Amino acid sequence: MIEIRNVRKSFGNHEVIKGVSLEVKKGEVLCLIGASGSGKSTMLQCINGLEPIQAGEILVDGISVHAKSTDLNLLRQKLGIVFQQYNAFPHLNALENVALAPRIVRKMRPKDALEIAREHLDYVGLSAQAEQYPTSLSGGQQQRLAIARALAMKPDYMLFDEVTSALDPELVGEVLDTIRKLRTNGMTMIMVTHDIAFARESADRVAFFDGGVICEIGDARQVITAPNKERTQQFLQRVL
Ligand code: ATP
Ligand code: MG
Repeated sequence: MIEIRNVRKSFGNHEVIKGVSLEVKKGEVLCLIGASGSGKSTMLQCINGLEPIQAGEILVDGISVHAKSTDLNLLRQKLGIVFQQYNAFPHLNALENVALAPRIVRKMRPKDALEIAREHLDYVGLSAQAEQYPTSLSGGQQQRLAIARALAMKPDYMLFDEVTSALDPELVGEVLDTIRKLRTNGMTMIMVTHDIAFARESADRVAFFDGGVICEIGDARQVITAPNKERTQQFLQRVL
């Protein structure tokens, strides 16, 4: 379980997360929606300890992310993260990209790391591209490669930050299909998305971020089709 308790986060004296509390249970899919600048990406970065926080606490399976005693490298093995921009190593082919972290971080034997990498390329539908270098892959393939890389570390949670926003429309579907497959297989996920239709059909719950606070959170269909708050309604009217 991920527990976020009254978290505050500032950049300098600009407070961008203003007291957020939230729980995500095992197997749950939560989508974060909200206007640009409302703090969604910052929230994800706080969850995996990429950003320090000024108040509150975040627990991942009971481990406090920002406690001095926490081994962040170990904790991050629980949390796979995929961003909007592609981040594969250009000098390694797809297979080597996926095998890298299992080999270096998990210290697996090269042969075992390659086997894990093959399994995960297969999972995201990239078996045929195993020998290709990232620049020769389409945007959708590169995002699926990023997902395979994260999954190869066997995370307990996946965090996605607008993973389809940079893609041509015809490539969005293949990435969303991979995320749907993860959901079917019970992966716990927190996803920042502008794709409201995807959030409605694929999330259990949706949280609407507004100016650094959660304005509304609840059942995905309810929040999107019948929001309780006027701010949520206004936002949805603008983006739908
Ligand atoms: P978007 O939908 O555009 O991705 P977001 O909801 O993800 O927006 P954040 O990226 O979390 O928003 O940004 C929240 C606020 O924090 C913004 O005002 C942003 O300018 C500010 N911010 C984010 N990262 C930094 C940083 N590294 N240094 C200073 N300010 C930052
Ligand atoms: Mg963002």
